[in-house]
Amino acid sequence: MHPVLVTQTRTSTSKMEALLTDDARAELQRIGDGLDARQPVGVRDGGIVVLGPQPTPTPVQEKSDEQQQRAGGPAARSRQRSTRRQRSSDRSRPPRAGSRIVGLAGNYTGQLENVQRAYPGATLLPDDHGVWLLARSQVIEGSAREAIFLIALPETPAVEPRGWAFWEQDGQVEWIGPRHTNFPDGSVCAYHPTLDKVWAPGGDLRTLLDIYSVWALRHLHLTVFDRWPGRQHAMPDDLGRSDPYYRLTQFKEAELCSCGSARRYGECCRPHDLKLPFLSILQAFKRRNLGLSIVDRAPPAQISASIAQGGHNSPPPIVEVHATLRAHVADLSGNPRID
Ligand SMILES: [Zn+2]
Repeated sequence: MHPVLVTQTRTSTSKMEALLTDDARAELQRIGDGLDARQPVGVRDGGIVVLGPQPTPTPVQEKSDEQQQRAGGPAARSRQRSTRRQRSSDRSRPPRAGSRIVGLAGNYTGQLENVQRAYPGATLLPDDHGVWLLARSQVIEGSAREAIFLIALPETPAVEPRGWAFWEQDGQVEWIGPRHTNFPDGSVCAYHPTLDKVWAPGGDLRTLLDIYSVWALRHLHLTVFDRWPGRQHAMPDDLGRSDPYYRLTQFKEAELCSCGSARRYGECCRPHDLKLPFLSILQAFKRRNLGLSIVDRAPPAQISASIAQGGHNSPPPIVEVHATLRAHVADLSGNPRID
């Protein structure tokens, strides 16, 4: 996988100055402080992230029982509904349980009208192994940037989605990463599939896009204030603990620590991490990550190429860019894995 030029762009000073209005900058800081204090956030139509007020529950009639269970995470609970959407929501009810037997693409397609109310222009593109979701998010009001999300949604519930995110500003496109993206493909790591329990295959697509919008907002905060806001996970080491090499190279001292304490990394686990022999924790990290170092993250070239054309180029077959799905398909067909 070779990154194309679009992924190499750095935010220049002049671009930074034009990035946010003063109000937007203040709002971004307020939301960041709220995330640090574990306040709930909501997502308004267009993907605009806002700090509380206290969440209103998702209308019950909108989803099947199974999806209710699956989409009950914080982003779902705190979504702020417009009355217009509540009135019209029953028209686009997704298929009931049972659709999973034949895969999830039909389920997702049934949600499209609903998704487009929150994310205007969102589209689904068919694929042999599922469906692509392409959507734009404003993230915050008063920003010159929009986020573009391209998410591969496998047909099988056994494999998690994999998505990539890009900023678009003045017609230029820039990969959103590398913080909290996966190795080595730079895909979005917006939640932990088992620890966070905020979304699972077959869930509500608006909720998924809301989670991505909040992730993008946190990236915007990192760009503007040089600090990732709110709780965060580190990659696990051999013992399932936060990898010290990952933390030392990724976390800023003023960010929350990943150990679950409410303290800043600099005052919590960093002094301990610094005492470890750096070369050996680096080697241990590489052993676990295909010999790659922390900087070796970038979206597949086909993904960047698709987005660089404003999404007009078709995305690649999902199986080509989703290694877990590729392994799953190879297992099912009895063929040897080609990774
Ligand atoms: Zn700690």
